[in-house]
Amino acid sequence: MNLVLFGPPGAGKGTQAKILTTSRGLPQLSTGDMLRAAIAAGTPLGLACKALMDKGELVPDATVVGIIGERYDKPDCARGAVFDGFPRTIPQAQALDEMLAKRGRKIDLVLELKVDDAALLARVEQRIKDGGPVRADDTPETLKNRLSVYYANTAPLLGYYGDQNKLQSLDGMAPIQTVTDQISAILDGMASV
Ligand code: AMP
Repeated sequence: MNLVLFGPPGAGKGTQAKILTTSRGLPQLSTGDMLRAAIAAGTPLGLACKALMDKGELVPDATVVGIIGERYDKPDCARGAVFDGFPRTIPQAQALDEMLAKRGRKIDLVLELKVDDAALLARVEQRIKDGGPVRADDTPETLKNRLSVYYANTAPLLGYYGDQNKLQSLDGMAPIQTVTDQISAILDGMASV
């Protein structure tokens, strides 16, 4: 099973991906986490991406396609994976389809977590008020840019996957457990893939 978790920044993709890792044994492939790890490790790739990430801009397609391809060939992806925050552009989705086809695989399902922008901004403001650790790109200003990048570059993928009949949408504003239960019901209802 190869699953894409889709939605704007802050929709809860990472939370649900982590739950799926435990419940279904599918690894979470988050390009954002991989890039942050590269920054923390001080690699040239990390250094090249940091400024773009801090501004909420996308890093180049070739960069994320490369790191995903390398990660997908690790043994823990033998039964598939949950893609979180990837693909984010049409060329990335095409590259992912090609990469999987070469391995005799495909994307089985794309789950869209629908949320509204005002709620996402309110969540960031709350996290800052709570004084917890916040990411460098977790500020109201950067979130606004990440949202416009999402609508311009990423939202068109809804059509791409809709045309392939792979898209299912969920209310991402519902409590975490409700979203988890709905995802679980969808996966249980699918033919064993
Ligand atoms: P995320 O943790 O998924 O919100 O990603 C954080 C940042 O990493 C994004 O704002 C982008 O700068 C970069 N990034 C992560 N995934 C991708 C991707 N698939 N394509 C381009 N940039 C990405």
